[in-house]
Amino acid sequence: MTDKYAVIGNPVAHSKSPLIHKMFAEQTGQDISYEKIEAPLDGFAATIERLRKDGYKGCNVTVPFKFEAFNIATELSKRAQAAKAVNTLKFDNEKIIGDNTDGAGLVHDIECNIEMPLKGKRVLLMGAGGAAYGVLVPLSQRGAGLAIVNRTIANAWEMIKPCDASQLISIYDYSQLVPLPNSIRFNIIINATSTGLTDEMPPLPSGIFAPGALAYDMMYGRETPFMKFARAQGAQVADGLGMLVEQAAEAFYIWRGVRPDTAPVIAALRA
Ligand code: NDP
Repeated sequence: MTDKYAVIGNPVAHSKSPLIHKMFAEQTGQDISYEKIEAPLDGFAATIERLRKDGYKGCNVTVPFKFEAFNIATELSKRAQAAKAVNTLKFDNEKIIGDNTDGAGLVHDIECNIEMPLKGKRVLLMGAGGAAYGVLVPLSQRGAGLAIVNRTIANAWEMIKPCDASQLISIYDYSQLVPLPNSIRFNIIINATSTGLTDEMPPLPSGIFAPGALAYDMMYGRETPFMKFARAQGAQVADGLGMLVEQAAEAFYIWRGVRPDTAPVIAALRA
C-alpha cells in the first residue's frame, strides 16, 4: 500500500516539496504519495487529526504553522526543541513526533554542496525570526565563530538563550557593523531575514566580506538585494534552493530510513 505524506501551509500553492519528494521516491524506489494541503488559518490541528485518521504517515509543515506543529507534537527532537518550531511530523500510532530539519539542511548545503567547511570560519547570521531559530543550533555546533545581527536586538538575545554555545555568540546591532579590518571580516554571511520577500536590503555596510567569502541567502527563486550587494562586494553568492532540498532529504530520511541523493534533484529544480 502506498504511504501518504503531505506538506501543510497557508498559502501552499507555491511549494516545491511535492516535486522534490516525488523525485526522491522515484530515485530510492519508495512507494509514497505526497500532496499539498492548504489548512485554514484556524484549522491546523483539525487538519492534522484528519490526516492521522486517514492513515497518513507524516507531513511537512510550512508558514505559518511551524509553531503550532511544535505545540501539537507529543515528542520533540532536540533540534526542534532548540528551534521552538517544527517542520517535519511523523505519525507513529498515538505518537506525533516533531523535528526541525532546516538547520541540518542549511549546514549540509554549505559544507557538502558548496564545499565550504564551517569550522574556523567567521559567520554572521542575519535575522532572529523563524528561519534563524531553525538553523541556530546546528550552525553553532560546527566550530565556526558565530555572530548574529538583527534589527530588533532584543529578539536576537532571546533567540540565543537556550543555545548551549550562547556565551560564544556575538550579537550586533546593524549600526555596529562599520567597515571592518580585513582580519575580522566575515567569511560567511547568511541572510535569514524576510528582506528578500519585500525586496529590501538589510542595512549592511560595505567592507564586511572577507576575501573569498560566501553570501548565502535562504530565499530562492530570484535575485534579492542582498545577493546583488554581495556580488558587487566580490563575494560568492548562493540562494536557499539547496537548503530547501537538503531539509526535504532529512525529512525523507526520518520517514523512510533512506537518504536520497540530492544533487540530481537540485540540478533538476535549477533547470
Ligand atoms: P520572520 O518573519 O519570522 O523573520 C523575519 C526576520 O527578518 C526578523 O529577524 C526581522 O527582524 C528581519 N527583518 C525584517 N525586515 C527587515 C529589514 N528591513 N531589515 C533588517 N531585518 C529585517 O521570517 P522567516 O524567518 O520565516 O523567513 C525568513 C526568510 O527565510 C524568508 O525569505 C523565507 O523564504 C526563508 N526561508 C527559507 C527556507 C529554505 O529552505 N530555503 C526555510 C525557511 C525560511 P525583527 O526581529 O527586527 O523583526
